[in-house]
Amino acid sequence: MPHPNDPSVRSFIPVDPASDFPIQNLPYGVFSARDGLAPRVGVAIGDYVLDLWQLAQDCRIDVVEPGVFAAPSLNPFMALGPEVWSRTRARISELLRHDHPELRDNEKLRQRALVPMAGVKLHLPVAVAGYTDFYSSKEHATNVGVMFRGKDNALQPNWLHMPIAYNGRASTVVVSGTKVRRPRGQLKPPSAELPTFGPCKRLDFELEMGVVVGQPSVMGEMLTERQAEEMIFGFVLLNDWSARDIQQWEYVPLGPFQAKAFATSISPWIVTREALQPFCVPGPVQDPVPLPYLQQTQPHNYDLQLDVSLRAVDMNEAARICRTNFKYMYWSSVQQLVHHASSGCTMNIGDLLGSGTISGPDKDQRGSLLEISWNGSEPVELASGVSRTFLEDGDSLVMRGWCEGDGYRVGFGEVEGTIVAAG
Ligand code: CA
Repeated sequence: MPHPNDPSVRSFIPVDPASDFPIQNLPYGVFSARDGLAPRVGVAIGDYVLDLWQLAQDCRIDVVEPGVFAAPSLNPFMALGPEVWSRTRARISELLRHDHPELRDNEKLRQRALVPMAGVKLHLPVAVAGYTDFYSSKEHATNVGVMFRGKDNALQPNWLHMPIAYNGRASTVVVSGTKVRRPRGQLKPPSAELPTFGPCKRLDFELEMGVVVGQPSVMGEMLTERQAEEMIFGFVLLNDWSARDIQQWEYVPLGPFQAKAFATSISPWIVTREALQPFCVPGPVQDPVPLPYLQQTQPHNYDLQLDVSLRAVDMNEAARICRTNFKYMYWSSVQQLVHHASSGCTMNIGDLLGSGTISGPDKDQRGSLLEISWNGSEPVELASGVSRTFLEDGDSLVMRGWCEGDGYRVGFGEVEGTIVAAG
């Protein structure tokens, strides 16, 4: 049987070469349809969602507990571990292959198990246990450092020695399409003597990837590179909405709090680590060499293209404001996970790790408006008569991501969020 990543594998379901969801991808999500059944687990294939619960009911997928696919999150399935993840993906690939008759020629089962994607509602795919936000792009950290501390002190002395992060809020992680209310908070512009309380005036996005942790670690125990890698179930697109003015006043000395607690949006499909394997590339050379517990023997970065566009209410179409690549990240997701557990901290099934804003070396590769508008000093022109330094009410922000194969792409779909007034 060919491996599910084999570029020559084809499905009996026609898939456009520009689609994010060919048979080489098979990302997992949680959906509900107009049939009145509760939200359950599905896999994206072309313009369809494959209903795994229906297939399990029909004894087509061999998992110990078929109920895992009736759950409203991927957490019970992820708990079964990497061998089951891999075996299930191989079985789904087989069932969808053009030369495998089992589902292809069973019209009754096809009717039940293949749901047109246009008619489904996609839900948050994971019950988020904890959310940690890293800061692992050297270009982003340098840009922000230059703006706030000057060129000579751009990177803090610890930055090149470990993946820097803070603990964020799992409670406000939302799925793509959820409207985002402008946050309120304490504001104190440098010119003001005292703070005031009110709606954020410098609302921003941050282009990130999110790691979905699928296996737990043991409290008090460190992880090896291999163990950390095998705990990663997959990746999503992540928008770490940020209130820059609230952040600027509150972040000393413990880091961001309310500035990033009001919303974090993720894409609905989790692309598995296995599906991304063909696109693995080495990261940037790390100098100085990290401490032994953070050293890698394998590449863990991904050649994954990213694109951000913004549409204001009075624009006919969205304008692209960033085009970059996940491969630029200085610290890999595996290093982040190893570091996270290194003190003895427990990692749980459903933990979400934000990569940190992904910026590249070029000016058009900046992953936040803070960098794009250089702290508000260089407005970006979106369309004739429409420019932005930060986000305004009604603005819709869309992030997309994909790996380019030979004649196909393994993509993430999109994560969208529209800003509504603070009220
Ligand atoms: Ca962030």
